Amino acid sequence: MRRMITVNKARTDRWKREDEAPRLKEKAPTLASLRLELEEYSEGHSIVGTRRVTLVVVDHAAALFEIPCSDSKCEEGGHEVTREVLAALSKQPSRFEFESGCHGYLGQRPCGRTLKVIGQAEYKKAP
Ligand SMILES: [Zn+2]
Repeated sequence: MRRMITVNKARTDRWKREDEAPRLKEKAPTLASLRLELEEYSEGHSIVGTRRVTLVVVDHAAALFEIPCSDSKCEEGGHEVTREVLAALSKQPSRFEFESGCHGYLGQRPCGRTLKVIGQAEYKKAP
């Protein structure tokens, strides 16, 4: 029961942060489309079932990229990769890639999962 409350609060907090965050189109004005491919790794091996593709709705998205850890037992984990994504987009690459380590815990043990992010982006042509 206590855990459910924690999860709900985390989710509400995330929505609140998304509302308060700057808009993606302000931070990356030339961005036309963004596709993020996410996959988690443990000790160098991809974890089955963690690969997912997200199409970011550029016109409405917040400039906030918080990706939860997919291990349901992971506490305080997840990936705040806003800085990495915005830094990559500022150089206007058609493709970028980076990794982020999860700093959460499974009980006493560090989660240790790595999230690999592959972004594919398109940009508006200069007028
Ligand atoms: Zn984790």
